[in-house]
Amino acid sequence: MKIWKPFELHTHTFHSDGKHSLLEMVKEAKMLGLQGLALTDHNTMSGLIGKEEVESQFDINIISGLEWTTFYGHMNMLGVSEYIDWREFTPKSIHTGIKKVHDKNGIVGIVHPYRIGSPICTGCFWEYHVEDWTDIDYIEVWSGTLPSVKKDNRRAFHLWTEKLNEGYQITAVNGRDWHETTELDDPIAATFLKVDKVEKNADGDRAFINAIKHGEVSVSMGPLIDMTLEWNEQKHPIGGEILIGRNVDMKAKVNITVDYSVRERKWELEDQNLKISINSNKGMLNENVLLMNQEQIVSSVNLEEIRWLRAELYGVFNGVYTMIAFTNAIYVINTSL
Ligand SMILES: [Zn+2]
Ligand SMILES: [Zn+2]
Repeated sequence: MKIWKPFELHTHTFHSDGKHSLLEMVKEAKMLGLQGLALTDHNTMSGLIGKEEVESQFDINIISGLEWTTFYGHMNMLGVSEYIDWREFTPKSIHTGIKKVHDKNGIVGIVHPYRIGSPICTGCFWEYHVEDWTDIDYIEVWSGTLPSVKKDNRRAFHLWTEKLNEGYQITAVNGRDWHETTELDDPIAATFLKVDKVEKNADGDRAFINAIKHGEVSVSMGPLIDMTLEWNEQKHPIGGEILIGRNVDMKAKVNITVDYSVRERKWELEDQNLKISINSNKGMLNENVLLMNQEQIVSSVNLEEIRWLRAELYGVFNGVYTMIAFTNAIYVINTSL
């Protein structure tokens, strides 16, 4: 059986410019209803010392990571246990660095690509030339707290949509870029990773890295949305691929479920009807009103010319009408082309 686990994928301790120790951050993460986090200090992995003890003491999963912090952009690598130096790479040779990470079974993601750069935040704006987007495992489309309302995140979300439209299978995640905790913090979003339900992950980070790599990811500030696409009597999950040939029935059934019990009491929704949209490379396929506490929506779609689709949840959150959650994509591959 597979379950969803809420993660925070972008964090810093005082081993770089964060205020917490790993232990303090884990305590705060538990208070936020999270079950895992990735530690991604700037250009160092020394904050991970003692990781196993913290994991077993607090029943939490910690992914080893690092934020490659360069003058031309920031990139997170996850699932690597040794430091990989970025200084030998120029704006034109980022792929050499990515290959080193992939060779060690790690994954890479472009983080906060449109955050304002120099002189406010050196290198925060992404300027690298990506020659081959198949090399990019994920994009951090939401950054910071209350992420969906922020303009730079809307641009990052749009970049992801463009890459999906171009035919790339890229995962989208949230990353708070967590440096400290204050009483005035806005609500956070969590990146939910779908993994096998096991007592203890014998292979450490691997299951979580694979979930991100394969797009088995749903992101939300509130309830968790999951989606399956049923076509030709087969059900396909988020991150999955449907292969369809010529002269077949293009009608498919989309099943969306909404789980209000995740991160219980850590977020609030005022009384309202929410809206669930199914978005795709052909634009919005349909919109459904979700009545209060309704847990499921079933609708039908025509897969003609569809290459990917995802679900998006909208409503008033923290006083603002905004996107509250989104799933990663299900891909449709036309084998007759
Ligand atoms: Zn950064
Ligand atoms: Zn950061």
